[in-house]
Amino acid sequence: MAFRKFAPRKKFCRFCANKDIDLNYKNIDLLNDFVNDRGKIIARRITGTCAKHQRKLTSEIKRARQMALLYYTATHSTQVQKKIS
Ligand SMILES: [Zn+2]
Repeated sequence: MAFRKFAPRKKFCRFCANKDIDLNYKNIDLLNDFVNDRGKIIARRITGTCAKHQRKLTSEIKRARQMALLYYTATHSTQVQKKIS
């Protein structure tokens, strides 16, 4: 019998499940959950976010990048850190 690596878990849209979540470009902690360590937006099929909220999420992440709250790429973030130190 094949060994199961991951327990099958039903994916759900976090924003539909909890209407109180403030999906906003200022909510960096939240947006960071939907961006991988290289600064890429994580695909909907992985996070389970619904189409409507993914659309909103993407635009808010892009807005946050413009405001320099999130980074565009990992290389950029290390360059910035080098400059500061
Ligand atoms: Zn949703």
